[in-house]
Amino acid sequence: MSEFDYDLFVIGAGSGGVRASRIAASHGARVAVAEEYRVGGTCVIRGCVPKKLLVYGAHFAEDIHDARKFGWDVPECRFDWNVLRDNVLAEVDRLEGLYGQTLDNHKVTVFRTRATIVGPQKVRLADGTELTAGRILIATGGWPHVPDFPGSEHAITSNEVFHLETLPKRIMIAGGGYIANEFAGIFNEFGSQVTIVNRGDTILRGYDEQIRDRLLQISMTKGIHFKFNVPFRSIEKNDDGTLTVHLENCDPFIVDAVLMATGRVPNTKGIGLEEVGVELDEQGAIKVDETNQSSVPSIYAVGDVTNRIQLTPVAIREGQAFADSVFGGKPTVVDYQNVPSAVFSHPPIGAVGMTEAEARNKLGSVRIYTSDFRAMKNVLAGRNERALYKMVVNAATDQVVGLHMIGPDAPEILQAAAIAVKAGLTKADFDATVALHPSMAEELVLLK
Ligand code: NDP
Repeated sequence: MSEFDYDLFVIGAGSGGVRASRIAASHGARVAVAEEYRVGGTCVIRGCVPKKLLVYGAHFAEDIHDARKFGWDVPECRFDWNVLRDNVLAEVDRLEGLYGQTLDNHKVTVFRTRATIVGPQKVRLADGTELTAGRILIATGGWPHVPDFPGSEHAITSNEVFHLETLPKRIMIAGGGYIANEFAGIFNEFGSQVTIVNRGDTILRGYDEQIRDRLLQISMTKGIHFKFNVPFRSIEKNDDGTLTVHLENCDPFIVDAVLMATGRVPNTKGIGLEEVGVELDEQGAIKVDETNQSSVPSIYAVGDVTNRIQLTPVAIREGQAFADSVFGGKPTVVDYQNVPSAVFSHPPIGAVGMTEAEARNKLGSVRIYTSDFRAMKNVLAGRNERALYKMVVNAATDQVVGLHMIGPDAPEILQAAAIAVKAGLTKADFDATVALHPSMAEELVLLK
């Protein structure tokens, strides 16, 4: 008999925690997981999944409009936010059920309550029950960061946006990152008047400059307003439910909702980490080594709580690597090179590898290939929206070190192309591949 109640106790049943629990259990470990909110975590419950469904819903606005050019006699259409919202939330419920079933099928004990750490191998549930485990895994994810200014409590975050009672006619979105640009696209397609307000002078820092510029230009053409280098001063709630927003050096704005999309911070507060000696970095993230082990040997962490790359597939890999290494006798280290990413804006962005600027800094001599084109269906639709594909090549080796794309279905195309970049293929390898015609993706093998 083990001296512990469990071999592994996981705190947080999100992408990383569920994967680690399931795989550790499949390796024979006795596993329990505590989740204070809903099984599935941010991605499934209030992130990637419901967001992507809203993106699909939003894109119908353009499809319905363009359909007329393709011969369809489309009557005037009306969008009903409540129908989409409720269908999306129902789908989230379904997925949550599936996640719960997966844990049950693997005989993982689920405690639907908050757990805190009270010792290197001991946790306490909200009802006071104390449980011991050989190892503890922290997979508590992140939480939206809301800057501190008067009235900031009147703003919503990505936690609440999926539950809005009504579609805001006017929405202000703070931030210039993933969530800001994705929701700007969504609300704009639904007919809301959208203003993005950012503290800096650029959107999507970290993405290739030309691609960012293209999104900015297309977004403005679609009617999204941008304000750069503008901090918030205050938000006041008016009697009619509207909000008056005061920004530095701007006239007051009256809007129906303010969405804060100003980054996410690791969820490490109030779970007993400091008390047991788990070291955090300056952002409050758990410091871990490449095996996901914290400064306390029996405590590990995966996913956004470690603030390495805040992406679901990365958290899943970390959870899998942890479980395989610790319980499966298969030491595995996650490779963070060439992780593809996407922004589900309108149109979306897909990227992998180095930007042009990063490659010039790192490699010195690079070759850049671009294709700036209008997708065939946009031409017929009379939609003046150009796609941009950009390839960054190491001039010394001919190796493709970066691919950056904005245009219809860019993330779908990029995922396959990322395999070639990850595999270290060369521009000559791309050139040697016969084009698949007519497609947008063929541009990748026709770059001159
Ligand atoms: P991002 O990090 O993408 O963007 C944050 C934005 O807020 C930046 O423009 C940043 O400005 C600004 N900002 C940061 N702190 C402050 C502050 N104190 N006051 C004012 N502005 C501030 O974060 P998001 O919230 O959009 O998304 C959180 C994370 O979730 C992302 O990093 C991403 O990893 C993940 N995510 C991924 C998605 C995907 O894969 N498609 C979709 C949605 C989220 P500056 O540039 O100056 O720092």
